[in-house]
Amino acid sequence: MDARKELDRLNNTLKKAIEGRFGGSKPVFGEGPVPCGLMVLGEAPGRDETRLGRPFVGKGGSFFIKSFEETFGMGRDRVYISNVLKVWPNVETKRLRTRAPEKDETEFFLPFLMKEIGIVDPKVILAVGKTAFSALFPDDEFRAGEWIASGNRKIMPVYHPSYILRRQKSLEGSVRELKGALLKVREELGL
Ligand code: URA
Repeated sequence: MDARKELDRLNNTLKKAIEGRFGGSKPVFGEGPVPCGLMVLGEAPGRDETRLGRPFVGKGGSFFIKSFEETFGMGRDRVYISNVLKVWPNVETKRLRTRAPEKDETEFFLPFLMKEIGIVDPKVILAVGKTAFSALFPDDEFRAGEWIASGNRKIMPVYHPSYILRRQKSLEGSVRELKGALLKVREELGL
């Protein structure tokens, strides 16, 4: 079957499963070309991603994408972008606030993520943040900027943009580090 059709079918199944497990939460699925040599895998959609129905469009996501586009000299539309969780993990205070994903939430999405990766079939996965990395390698240490292999794929872990943005004092160094890791990916893919 055509990869796009296969992905649409998977997302339809996942949409129903999300309705059963998360009620009214609005899902945010991956976007971009399929199959694709490079997959960006984040943690979860946030408020803006949920409102717009697209991954990596909020403050952190846009910050990451800017570094990506500057390093690769190409637009986000050339890569496949997704998250481990397809719904926004939040807590209700005065207004909804983002929280870290629970273990059972990650576990719920994992089988779908594995199928999604199989369909996208990337040569390289950019694991953005520890949640993304640990979903793929639960027993390995997160080492930003260091390659790790999984079968015929290579994974590059990088720090999550929200984490980088929280450490404003070391922002310049963190961006340099992030771009260094992105450059390794670009070179690996011969782009
Ligand atoms: N935006 C996303 O969609 N996911 C992240 O992990 C970060 C920002």
